[in-house]
Amino acid sequence: MSKIRFQRIPLEARFHNPLRDFAEERHELEIRKDPLLGDTSVYNPYLKDKAKAFFGDSNPDLIHRLVEESEKACFFCGEKVEKGTPRFTADFLPQGRLRVGEAILFPNLFSLGMHHPVVCLCKAHFLPLSGFHPDLIANGLTAMQKFLKIVYERDASAVFAAITANYLFPAGASLVHPHIQMLVTPAPYSYHGRLLGAQHAYYAKNRTAFFSDLVREEMNGPRYVAGKGLWHWMAPFSPLGCNEFMAVHETSVDFGSLTSMDIIDLSYGISRVLSLYASLGHLSFNFAVYSAREGSPFTGSRCIIKIISRQNLYPNYRNDDYFLQKLLQTELIIIPPEELAPRLRECF
Ligand SMILES: [Zn+2]
Repeated sequence: MSKIRFQRIPLEARFHNPLRDFAEERHELEIRKDPLLGDTSVYNPYLKDKAKAFFGDSNPDLIHRLVEESEKACFFCGEKVEKGTPRFTADFLPQGRLRVGEAILFPNLFSLGMHHPVVCLCKAHFLPLSGFHPDLIANGLTAMQKFLKIVYERDASAVFAAITANYLFPAGASLVHPHIQMLVTPAPYSYHGRLLGAQHAYYAKNRTAFFSDLVREEMNGPRYVAGKGLWHWMAPFSPLGCNEFMAVHETSVDFGSLTSMDIIDLSYGISRVLSLYASLGHLSFNFAVYSAREGSPFTGSRCIIKIISRQNLYPNYRNDDYFLQKLLQTELIIIPPEELAPRLRECF
């Protein structure tokens, strides 16, 4: 019997529908539980056709205006990146900033971790999701890895790293200009800690890595997308966010020890997900790569990435993170993972 359980709890909702002359309707819903953490999501198939009511269409005129207005004051643009962004102290990084291709890494002005670098990914102030080319993403991730290796050399307490992205305002970005961030900390932040703790507990019980078992379990099923190098891409059974995809590194838990090929392969996968989001009409996204330093006491853990789409941009858009997500920590499934995965498979 499989060690991994994909739990579904069926529900029924009954009511009289005013749109159908108050005829009685019965809706069959489903609660799903994440097989590692038990986190719930809920799927109501009747909502699928109502996705437009939730996400609307991005408004091109509004986006154009926001891009134009924000560009004037953007301190990641042109020469301003030199004059307007912070530098590391000389004892930590003598050159002040790190560069890889167009990517430029510098400290966050308002740190949320012991080490909190930001990478401005490119010269362009705005990119459509189809413009996030793999080499552009790889330059940014490579800069982060170079920085992480420097931190590792100097700071034994730097164990946990999360490489994250917010793109555009609905995803929480304060700047339009494409950028990513990294938090390196001596304690993992809540979700990261739960992921590592649960993987370690699974390993202690089964003597196998949860995510390796998950990949094996999912590989021939409807939620598996594709393998790219040592990364396995899937649509999670019980997602944490909208249109979520996840990739698992086959062997490593440490972003700092990935090879340059691993980073190129990961970047390719991210670009494919963003290209699918673009074709679904989305423009805003978040991602997080979860990493722990090799030798940390979380045996059986793996480096993974989770990537989700966010609300579209139109005047007075509604937030897609409401009580369900923020206070019940439950995600609403609009497109079931089993239907999402085949769509991404076509993009690989
Ligand atoms: Zn800019």
